[in-house]
Amino acid sequence: MSIAKLEHEITAPNRTQDRNRNLRVVHGRQVVNLPAAERAVRDLLFALGRDPSSPHLADTPRRVAESLTEMLTPREFDLTTFPNDENYDELVLARSIPVQSLCEHHMLPFTGVAHVGYLPGERILGLSKLARVVELFARDLQVQERLTVQVANWLQDHLAPKGVGVVIEAEHMCMSMRGVQARGSRTITSAVHGALREDARSRQEFFALTRSA
Ligand SMILES: [Zn+2]
Repeated sequence: MSIAKLEHEITAPNRTQDRNRNLRVVHGRQVVNLPAAERAVRDLLFALGRDPSSPHLADTPRRVAESLTEMLTPREFDLTTFPNDENYDELVLARSIPVQSLCEHHMLPFTGVAHVGYLPGERILGLSKLARVVELFARDLQVQERLTVQVANWLQDHLAPKGVGVVIEAEHMCMSMRGVQARGSRTITSAVHGALREDARSRQEFFALTRSA
């Protein structure tokens, strides 16, 4: 359903760069049908007892359809990896990467932060790319548990690190604006692989560094 695919490998142009690998990452999801989405929002307004032809709501179907499209469409990016020449073997951690997603049960936002870390194997990653990997899966209809696992699995598959860990903390509008109205309550999920799962000391280090202040 939301499986990212690697479209092509970009061949490096000269010898100094040919040890760096670039992969263009594109999402493999169905493209949004914008006119159909607009019509559906108009119908929804009508069903909710509102008048979609009123001047205040005239542009609302288009705006809602465009907003949803943006929130469900990850941007393409190049995944650049470099050889780990120095044999760096400590944890690499990007803390507090912003997360914005839509819960698939209510189509309401959930927002928060992701902490993404890995123990390098033979290759290391451009750091900004960790945020793009989070976005790749966050711009979808999601549940937080699946989002967390998808980011961890994707990094495991494409970077082959010795270990990878992902912690996501997020507030769900479907919990804070309706239902139990638990404002300020954050849900925490985690997924760990390899040494961050099996080695007690690495695991402890990872979770200590990701704990919020
Ligand atoms: Zn929800």
